[in-house]
Amino acid sequence: MRKIGIYGKGGIGKSTTTQNMASAMAYSFGKKVMIHGCDPKADATRMILGGKPQDTVLDTLRELGEENVTLDKVVKKGFLGILGVESGGPEPGVGCAGRGIITAIDLMESLGGYPEDLDFLFYDVLGDVVCGGFAMPMRQGKAQEIYIVTSGEMMAVYAANNICKGLVKYAARTGIRLGGIICNSRKVDKELELMEEFCDRLGTKLIHFVPRDNIVQKAEFNKKTVIEFDPECKQAHEYEKLAENIINNEDFVIPKPIMKMDELEALVVKYGIIG
Ligand code: ADP
Ligand code: MG
Repeated sequence: MRKIGIYGKGGIGKSTTTQNMASAMAYSFGKKVMIHGCDPKADATRMILGGKPQDTVLDTLRELGEENVTLDKVVKKGFLGILGVESGGPEPGVGCAGRGIITAIDLMESLGGYPEDLDFLFYDVLGDVVCGGFAMPMRQGKAQEIYIVTSGEMMAVYAANNICKGLVKYAARTGIRLGGIICNSRKVDKELELMEEFCDRLGTKLIHFVPRDNIVQKAEFNKKTVIEFDPECKQAHEYEKLAENIINNEDFVIPKPIMKMDELEALVVKYGIIG
């Protein structure tokens, strides 16, 4: 089983990309996949489950107490047998979201909630906050491979670079590695060129450039991933390519993040000006 952490700034498209890629893995490559949502927003499994309500691990824990949390309450099966679980969040303004994430993962492990025969387990983790909490799945080596979702927008690149800084801290102790960057396009000028240079600087590769396409939202309104909604459309093939590239990936690195903010800014601005 490959345990993969998907990181990136809030709203960048982690949950959309993860669910669409997971669907492609199951649909086109017959893989057995599970998604564990680690964002307090708890919407990482919505399209996979076709809108079926999903109780979060932390809510269930609070309501029923640890001894009464069972897998049938928190794990749901969706499109092509893809499994989904959501950590949920702390009460707003009270607990620490990061600690909650690790509580949920530990509980899932102790319940045997990640089936042995899974090919891929994805942790979908909010990562723009520079907080040890969101680094937990890396820090404790729960995820072994990390992919970062970003676009060419400054704040997304900044978050991606920060996530790399976090990864470097835990790499030696946990063996965790960066598998690559996924560009979820926002159609900024020269975005592909910018991403290629950013990847070069980090010492990693661009796993796939996912175009922005309204069919993603259309499918989402229908509570479906693109592959389920229209398996022959262009965007479905983009997610298939992304899935294939991850399945075949063998390049796992400790990245070299850009250390100075002005250097990072110059990189983004350079392509903005050329564009
Ligand atoms: P995150 O999980 O990183 O917070 P989401 O996956 O929820 O972000 O994405 C935010 C919104 O962006 C979603 O409502 C989705 O419809 C839209 N979106 C993401 N990727 C694409 C894309 N490639 N094309 C069009 N819309 C997209
Ligand atoms: Mg999300």
